[in-house]
Amino acid sequence: MRHTKQKERILQAVRTIPNHPTAEMVYDLLKPTNPRLSLATVYRNLNLFASQGKLLKLDIPSEPARYDANVHPHAHGVCDVCGMLMDIQIERYGDFLVDLKKYIERREDFRISDITMQIRGVCAACRAAAESAAAGTAGNAAAEVTEEAEEELKAANG
Ligand SMILES: [Zn+2]
Ligand SMILES: [Zn+2]
Repeated sequence: MRHTKQKERILQAVRTIPNHPTAEMVYDLLKPTNPRLSLATVYRNLNLFASQGKLLKLDIPSEPARYDANVHPHAHGVCDVCGMLMDIQIERYGDFLVDLKKYIERREDFRISDITMQIRGVCAACRAAAESAAAGTAGNAAAEVTEEAEEELKAANG
């Protein structure tokens, strides 16, 4: 019973924490109210949920694995500057991956088990921060910059 509750809390934490948490982020969230929880238990359960298809495990080279409560096929973008991991919705992404798999297997002697697409770039907040720094207004760089503010910056910069 206790273990079932603990498992539910771990799964729930991944759904609650925005931006695809790591095992440590889940642990940090739950630890204060679950003093007997260990990081090993969090890892074990996250990987169990991933193997059961209740979570997606996202392996990013040279970074800790991230977990995703959204198990519907979607792509991910990773910010080169701050490491932010965002969902990128691509229409008919699941079908696209099936087509890509068939396409590759028709041409190459290679049986595909999984395709992970990693889309790297720079997020809006980091671009805005870089633009204000370049414009010499780093002092009032906002953490979160709206699209309007970005447009204004572009206009101001010519
Ligand atoms: Zn960023
Ligand atoms: Zn995602």
